[in-house]
Amino acid sequence: MDVVRDWAGGVNLTVSETKSVCMLLKGILSNTRPPWVRNGPRNLPYQKRTKYLGITVAERLNFLPHFQDVRLRLIKLTGQFKRVLRKKWGPSLRNIKTWWSGLFSAVALYGAEVWFREIEKGYIRRAVERCQRIVTYAILPVCRTVSTEAMQVLLGELPWRLQAIGRGILYEVKNYRDLPNNGYIGANELERLTNKQKKTKIFEKLHQVWTDDWRDTTNGRVTYLFAPDPRKIKTLTHYAPTMEEVFILTSHGSMNAYLYGRNLRDTPECDCGAPNENWQHILNECPLYDELRTWDPTEPLINFLNYSTLYLKLKTYCANVFELRKMRGIDNASTKYLYFIRNTLFYLINIYKSSYPYLHPNLFPT
Ligand SMILES: [Zn+2]
Repeated sequence: MDVVRDWAGGVNLTVSETKSVCMLLKGILSNTRPPWVRNGPRNLPYQKRTKYLGITVAERLNFLPHFQDVRLRLIKLTGQFKRVLRKKWGPSLRNIKTWWSGLFSAVALYGAEVWFREIEKGYIRRAVERCQRIVTYAILPVCRTVSTEAMQVLLGELPWRLQAIGRGILYEVKNYRDLPNNGYIGANELERLTNKQKKTKIFEKLHQVWTDDWRDTTNGRVTYLFAPDPRKIKTLTHYAPTMEEVFILTSHGSMNAYLYGRNLRDTPECDCGAPNENWQHILNECPLYDELRTWDPTEPLINFLNYSTLYLKLKTYCANVFELRKMRGIDNASTKYLYFIRNTLFYLINIYKSSYPYLHPNLFPT
């Protein structure tokens, strides 16, 4: 402790007698017998995790508790926004993106310059993705079962994992430190560039990494057919996803094939008699919606997002189709419901009649 106090004295700092704690940052000392550090008359209290300048760190520089804290903070934040962030209505995507970058990303990426190297570890990467999933699910009109990768693409913003790496690399470059050897960018690629050019170059590279990851993953393959290049989504000014349209873009939604796979329907069949009511069937095949369909069925899927007129057609079509489906569903459901109530009532009356015929002989005249 004297060493620390001497060093602190040299840089005009004082060590607090009451607030100071100690924690093991590295080494192989026992977990169960923490080291004793004398601080004047007493030992420094030992902690397994501590918060310093807003970043929570656990023993042996484990950053996982930090992301657990961030996750709780994001759950609380999205809960506060739930009143306006609804699946069927809410602010425009443009406004949502302002919150995304100014609020949610700011919370999640706080201190990224310190912890960005940790993302190489699988459990930290998964922790960051879990945080991102909470927010993307809350702000996009998607089903809970859609993969995180597909949600990120539908949002059209660089995933937090890569944003954190970008910020970290930029910070290291500005401070003339060695770049991490993570294969994203080499120091030689940034030579003789201005700071602004460096930033552009770094984020260009990371967007390429995102595109490659999106191509190689096994999740969200239907969304991939519509949007193979995630960078493009960000540039589309007409893009403003609605819930019904996202059913088709993700193949997750109110379609019998999807619902049947999750035991929410008795059959995957469509009302038209086709064996599978899935996104392809609704989009291009189902004869029930022939009159609503205003494009050529051979239209490449990639065009639906890229061209504003076709995108508008898709949006209108999805809204109408799922409204029709819902009306048919309500008819079926309400009829079933009424039958259920009627049958239950008859059943109870019969039991009542058979059990207590002598109590109320005139209640149910035969
Ligand atoms: Zn059909």
